[in-house]
Amino acid sequence: MAKADYYETLGVGRSADEKELKSAFRKLAMKFHPDKNPGDHEAERKFKELNEAYETLKDPQKRAAYDRYGHAAFEHGGMGAGGGGFAGGGGFSDIFEDIFGEMMGGGRQRQRSSGGRERGADLRYNMEISLEEAFAGKTAQIRVPTSITCDVCSGSGAKPGTQPKTCGTCQGSGRVRAAQGFFSIERTCPTCHGRGQIIPDPCGKCHGQGRVTEERSLSVNIPSGIEDGTRIRLQGEGEAGLRGGPSGDLYIFLSVKPHEFFQRDGADLYCAVPISMTTAALGGTFDVATLDGTKSRVSVPEGTQAGKQFRLKAKGMPVLRSSQVGDLYIQIQIETPQKLTKRQRELLQEFEQISSKDNNPESTGFFARMKDFFDTLSD
Ligand SMILES: [Zn+2]
Ligand SMILES: [Zn+2]
Repeated sequence: MAKADYYETLGVGRSADEKELKSAFRKLAMKFHPDKNPGDHEAERKFKELNEAYETLKDPQKRAAYDRYGHAAFEHGGMGAGGGGFAGGGGFSDIFEDIFGEMMGGGRQRQRSSGGRERGADLRYNMEISLEEAFAGKTAQIRVPTSITCDVCSGSGAKPGTQPKTCGTCQGSGRVRAAQGFFSIERTCPTCHGRGQIIPDPCGKCHGQGRVTEERSLSVNIPSGIEDGTRIRLQGEGEAGLRGGPSGDLYIFLSVKPHEFFQRDGADLYCAVPISMTTAALGGTFDVATLDGTKSRVSVPEGTQAGKQFRLKAKGMPVLRSSQVGDLYIQIQIETPQKLTKRQRELLQEFEQISSKDNNPESTGFFARMKDFFDTLSD
């Protein structure tokens, strides 16, 4: 599906300034905020689109990339498919490096002036938590295989006591010119692979890379109330840069497992509870366990209908970084009795015989109106 244009999403012109963007976003975000449109999935989708558009356009670098490349500028952000555990990948940082390197005066120049330093790749870690964990929050210990700066050469790639040298083939430019017929073609230097420097005495531990692969243990703080699909960015915890370049970032992609009893919609929870026909007719009580570890008693009045909802205030999910708590909605389902004994059948038949229209106003009314409707059709 083609994604909507970010400017169109926010309803602003392509030359809109920061202030215009902000006020357009605020206005629309208020309108489509999930709290104002409970259960409206279209509004929720719209709200997410708005956020995405604003997040991109408010950042001058991202905006420039979007203006130039459209959505393609960010499509490599996926970094490997879902699945369990660690997916790794480098496409994300690569495309940003390309785009921003070029904007800042060309990748070539950047590499030359930085002596072959490269930013490390961003990493992705998929984490699945339970609804209970999303409710309470937790500190998760994760192990991330990644490359870290080599401690022997401090990331330079050169054996301690030696220095990298300027590449003799390209004189440090990282590019060489070759004549081909009438043309002069510039290409990446084959000796230093564009870095402009060579390492005559490589470090024994990292073989000149300036980084080594290791598994690191990290503790990640999962805040209470976190939503399915949240991305947590740990700055500088991605792959180490090459030859002293800055580290990439680590992104935790969080998913919340479906729960046996509770469905979540923002901060609210829904729980479908089947009750017997007799409880529905005569009234009764039952207990539901809630995520805070307590029980709540629900009283069902006489004559409760299927689909009836009861609200248990503040028994839903906590709202991220606030003291608010959503509600728990109990949705009544009525179970029709099955496998009747002879005696039960007799009792129900007797009940049926002494029933009046007042016992079943909905069904009585419905069939009367349906009959009228049929009569108008056949007239
Ligand atoms: Zn080293
Ligand atoms: Zn060279």
